[in-house]
Amino acid sequence: MAVIAYLGVGSNQGDRHAHCAAAIAQIASSGHTGILDQSSWYLTEPWGYHDQDEFINLVLKVETGLAPLELLRFLKDLEEKLGRHKTVPFGPRTIDLDILLYGDCVIQSPELTIPHGRLGERGFVLVPLAEIAPQLVHPVYNKTISRLVAELRDTRRVVKVERENQ
Ligand code: AMP
Repeated sequence: MAVIAYLGVGSNQGDRHAHCAAAIAQIASSGHTGILDQSSWYLTEPWGYHDQDEFINLVLKVETGLAPLELLRFLKDLEEKLGRHKTVPFGPRTIDLDILLYGDCVIQSPELTIPHGRLGERGFVLVPLAEIAPQLVHPVYNKTISRLVAELRDTRRVVKVERENQ
């Protein structure tokens, strides 16, 4: 049975736009995960490790036939395929693909945390997500995404850039 999930896409190394566009194209042509909607693209100030370029971040609404761990495996394989190398934690990355939400599932395992751990308090995921799913309820905080944005204490820059097509 297909489930609606929200994926975070980010890049801050090399041709950031091309990496995000390639990830979107690969997801769209996967045959098991279809893209229903996508947010605008945002330039965002890096979190954690500061000596690095700004990120491009966006959020995809997808419909997937994959189970959560299968979806994670697919996204991690795609990161490798698109040239992501292991770097410092929170450091620069060619492409970063995260499962933000998977239906209203709550999962806490060594491999997978859903909703994504950064979702509640990071502007770079909440702001794009609020653009396409403001009324969605975070299944742990029990608050809408728009309310979480209103309560956001993360002051790092999140600036919309021209919308890109797939
Ligand atoms: P990252 O550095 O963002 O690529 O994440 C590193 C690890 O986080 C992955 O290898 C996953 O096992 C783990 N992880 C836990 N929860 C999630 C999630 N919701 N989406 C993606 N990765 C996750």
